[in-house]
Amino acid sequence: MAEYLREDRTEHHINTFLRNGNPQIARDATAWLDDMDVTKHDFPYIETLIQRAFSIWTQEALPVPGMEEARWLLADHAGKLIAGTEGRSGPEVEAGRLAAESARVTGEPQIVAFSGVEAAAVPLRTRLQGEIFGSLVCLADNLTASLALTAVSARHFRTCFYQQLKYVFLSDLFNLREQKEREEAARWTALLQIVKRMHDKIDVNSVLTEVFESMTDIYPGAQLELLISQDYRSSDPRVKLLQMNTLNEDEKLCIRAYMQNTMLSKDKMSESGAKTLEIAVPLSGKQGVYGVFHFLIPGELGKDMDLQLVSMLADTAGNAFENAKLYEQSNLLIHELRLINELSRQLSQSLQPAEVFEFATKELLDVFKADYCCITEFNPDKDHFQVMSTNVLSMENELFPASYGYCGVVYTTGEPLIMSDYNALSKVHSKMMESTGSKSLIAAPVTIRGEVSGAILLSHRQAHYFSYENYKLLQVLATHIGLAIANASLYDAVQFMANRDMLTGLYARHYLDDCVQQRLQTDNAGSLLIVDIDNFKQVNDSYGHQAGDRILKQVCDIIKSQAQPVDIAARWGGEELAVYFPFMTAEECFAVSERIRERVIAETHPGVTVSCGVGGWTYSGERISAEVLFYCADMALYKAKNGGRNRTEVDRCGEGLEGISLLFPSKDAP
Ligand code: GH3
Ligand code: MG
Ligand code: MG
Repeated sequence: MAEYLREDRTEHHINTFLRNGNPQIARDATAWLDDMDVTKHDFPYIETLIQRAFSIWTQEALPVPGMEEARWLLADHAGKLIAGTEGRSGPEVEAGRLAAESARVTGEPQIVAFSGVEAAAVPLRTRLQGEIFGSLVCLADNLTASLALTAVSARHFRTCFYQQLKYVFLSDLFNLREQKEREEAARWTALLQIVKRMHDKIDVNSVLTEVFESMTDIYPGAQLELLISQDYRSSDPRVKLLQMNTLNEDEKLCIRAYMQNTMLSKDKMSESGAKTLEIAVPLSGKQGVYGVFHFLIPGELGKDMDLQLVSMLADTAGNAFENAKLYEQSNLLIHELRLINELSRQLSQSLQPAEVFEFATKELLDVFKADYCCITEFNPDKDHFQVMSTNVLSMENELFPASYGYCGVVYTTGEPLIMSDYNALSKVHSKMMESTGSKSLIAAPVTIRGEVSGAILLSHRQAHYFSYENYKLLQVLATHIGLAIANASLYDAVQFMANRDMLTGLYARHYLDDCVQQRLQTDNAGSLLIVDIDNFKQVNDSYGHQAGDRILKQVCDIIKSQAQPVDIAARWGGEELAVYFPFMTAEECFAVSERIRERVIAETHPGVTVSCGVGGWTYSGERISAEVLFYCADMALYKAKNGGRNRTEVDRCGEGLEGISLLFPSKDAP
């Protein structure tokens, strides 16, 4: 009966019936019930129903006058007596059985006599097909009269039966509906709780865990995975990336569901040949579709799958996912802004390009939790890259051709790049990736005044390590690093110019003064050499000022080539040049001076000579001042000039301090 009631037809009718409060409409709506019938397929299941109809019929019919003489039996569709046999004698039962059997076989009312008992049986037919579903049997004394009575009674009984059928049918329907409503209410309660729980979560991971748990609770046998279209890293193996160019049939259904943003389902055969229901439900919110839930529900379970509930759950999950994602994104954004602020504040504090490179490398490794970082700078004159800062020891200060590796790609395209798996995808050879065994990479150009001046590379040994957010953040940070490098380089250039003499390329006098002053405070020895071109006025007069300049530069170049990086060679003024040699004794300085003097004779064109004065000092308990040292060197030079030029004279400041002080004109001096 339950199967019978499930047909859509009945569902439709009962719904119409229940919705209509108007009795007239309700009557019309129930008119179909009067045509309702049983068929021979129902016969095995209606015994109780006929018995109940028989008992109601006996209550109604037996009190009627004229019925008191008759005894009644009831047979089922197979002729078996199923009611009224209690208290009957054996011959009565047997007579009844024979009559019923005869009526069943012939399909006509029958009278049968057995062992002195006579029985009349009338077949009971269904209303539509006229199939015999039982017989009403009467045991009475006047058989002719009783056959007519039986026929009338059979009609009455049949009415009772159909009434009963209608009653049972309706009460079954109501029960079924009530049960459905109870189930629905339970499901809604469950859904409501899931919605509440999901919206309590503010991180994407917990939302997804909640979805998986809820779905598994409701459909324990189902296989569930989530194919995500976003750049999202999850530790849950059930969360995978939605591959748009897949050849996998299952994923194709998911891609269609994703593209159309609708739930799709289909039946399929599993590898073992079992029937499986496959469902793809998009995970979408108000702002977009983020992925697709993919269900595989084995055989029988699939039948009870409530697609509407699945779709509602997916909707809830989509909204919760979107909320959590937005929350995470805004948190990330705040974090990034703070980071950018802090980084650019710190970067702007360093005024040395080398310091900026080093600081940026350290910070980038920390911010992105990357394994390796490499910052390169492009040198357009030499057409190569130089590694300015890195934590890959084998690459420190290394040079690469302009088109090499990812630096080359970034430099030629001017675009940032992201690489998820070097071994599988790379078309470019990269020393950084090879030598460190890295698989993931993000890179961004460093631009200074709109020109790509270098590149930042960050790598990690794990594949698919960097997210799209990482890639975008690096781009922003690279801009700030570029600015800091530009500032530091500019500051460096300004410093360079401020401390240099433009004509000769030597340091300016004030720079030498500062350095000497500092050295005199900390060191314990040193020498100052002053070189003066002899008769330079005449040179100018004879060859012109430009030739004079050229000779001045030639002399300066000789001096520069004799000075070590720690030595400070400066233009002291006019054609007077000075070099401070830290830690050098007066004797050593004399030797250097003589080399310079001889080279000037040999290498200047037109040829000139120089006179040199050396002021040497050593620490002997008292520190001398820069003025004293300059004075000593100047005195020595004076001596050289006086001695006939083209020579070096030495003055040891420490030795004749008293003498030197005498050389300073005192107020009292004449
Ligand atoms: P002395 O041997 O005594 O040093 O003779 P001098 O002629 O070199 O010395 P003096 O101090 O009389 O003249 C210095 C000359 O150096 C005067 C000036 O024309 C020249 N001079 C100074 N600076 C420059 C420069 O930058 N370029 C050129 N071409 N000449 C310069
Ligand atoms: Mg001179
Ligand atoms: Mg001079």
